[in-house]
Amino acid sequence: MSAEERYRVVDAERLDGVVRAAVAAGLVGGEQVAAGFVDVDGLLRSVADLRAGFRAAGAGGGGAGGGAGGGRAGEVLHTFAAKACALVPVLRLLAEAGLGCEVASAGELALARAAGFPAERIVLDSPAKTTAELAQALALGVAVNADNLGEVERIAALLPTAPPVSVLGLRINPQVGAGSIDAMSTASRHSKFGEPLGDPSARERIADAFARYPWLTRLHVHVGSQGCPLELIAAGVRAVYELAEDVNERAGRRQVTSLDLGGGLTVNFDSDEIRPTHHAYAEHLRAAVPGLFDGRYALVTEFGRSLVAKNGFTVAVAEYTKQVGGRSVALTHAGAHLATRTVFMPQAWPLRISVHRPDGTRREEPPVVQDVAGPLCFAGDVVAHERPLPPIRPGDLVVLHDTGGYYASAPWGYNSVARPAVHGFSTRDGAVRFATVRDRQTALEIVAESGGAHAGSLLGLGTEATER
Ligand SMILES: *Cc1c(COP(=O)(O)O)cnc(C)c1O
Repeated sequence: MSAEERYRVVDAERLDGVVRAAVAAGLVGGEQVAAGFVDVDGLLRSVADLRAGFRAAGAGGGGAGGGAGGGRAGEVLHTFAAKACALVPVLRLLAEAGLGCEVASAGELALARAAGFPAERIVLDSPAKTTAELAQALALGVAVNADNLGEVERIAALLPTAPPVSVLGLRINPQVGAGSIDAMSTASRHSKFGEPLGDPSARERIADAFARYPWLTRLHVHVGSQGCPLELIAAGVRAVYELAEDVNERAGRRQVTSLDLGGGLTVNFDSDEIRPTHHAYAEHLRAAVPGLFDGRYALVTEFGRSLVAKNGFTVAVAEYTKQVGGRSVALTHAGAHLATRTVFMPQAWPLRISVHRPDGTRREEPPVVQDVAGPLCFAGDVVAHERPLPPIRPGDLVVLHDTGGYYASAPWGYNSVARPAVHGFSTRDGAVRFATVRDRQTALEIVAESGGAHAGSLLGLGTEATER
């Protein structure tokens, strides 16, 4: 394994070149007030890093093989958690790269299918699947991780007498504790996700369910997302690995044939360094749970943020600047509609910001303390508070770094501000080439999703009362 494989940084100079090219191409600046950008080269590189990391730790061949979802011992199916970047062209790219897709709603399942993921590489998770959603997944042959034993019973009632095509598993909450962000921690004592492993007689109830239903062949764990250290993730995986060994021993055969390890690798938002790497993750797991990679279990992963976050950024125009109470405030088009978590939980989701001239070149002047505010009509719409930055001038561009995950895919509709366009780019041929991922939302689309087709519907209801 080369040092480069183990460690990589986002190339700031390259990013600046892309911002300049985007301005020159008319993709952002002026009336194009904001746009998201997806680094296609970086994304494919991250997929390769993920595969190489697991391979280096001794696991699987990389998951490109069809049928990996069926769980052949020793194979690894790397799936991408759709919610991290729910854009069909991005999902299509990842499908072509051989990944699977983790989905958590009927909408995400539709996106995964539109992107061309074969059913056997799709995994359906989510804590509140309806009967119709379960029936659809079973009909398609999509893998399903039941959230709880109640859901296992519902699946049992839906299954025909023939063995299911879908791989069916149960999500476990190993109750190993929370990471640094409570809202991102799914393995705390009272987390809503999975069967709580440490609760009284939980192990017996889980083992009984596996004894009753021979089609249950997978255990699933996802300890949490951003803010969960490797030690915590490994502790959760270890607990579930031990449970699998336990269930198999009681069954007297290898009933649990695959383990779904979830995602949750933390991303460094402080600098251009990519750390921890997928290599570090896989090595840490191998050390903490040696039996995991010895080829007896097929493995599934569900990484989201760690594959995309550092492979995307957002550019927004600064419209005005002013002095307020002795502080510089920039009124930009980067607000809570496109950086929702950052605005509402600034401590948990701080973003690096760079300031660029209208032509896209980066400003390097001595920093002054500024607020970078958004366009929405509430006072809290600020993406960076009291941040030392080169002085922002009207017409400048602010770049929000590391927004490739959970930003474009988690918009907020407040104030009916148009969702910005998203563009993919590659610099592989030397020049910067762009492709549309998503168009900017139009005013007509905003009207349509706001009940435009039913504009007069309430008048009919109100007529009688008005006439009286
Ligand atoms: C969100 C989620 C993931 C992906 O988490 P990341 O932190 O983006 O890697 C994987 N599995 C499940 C079940 C999830 O809910």
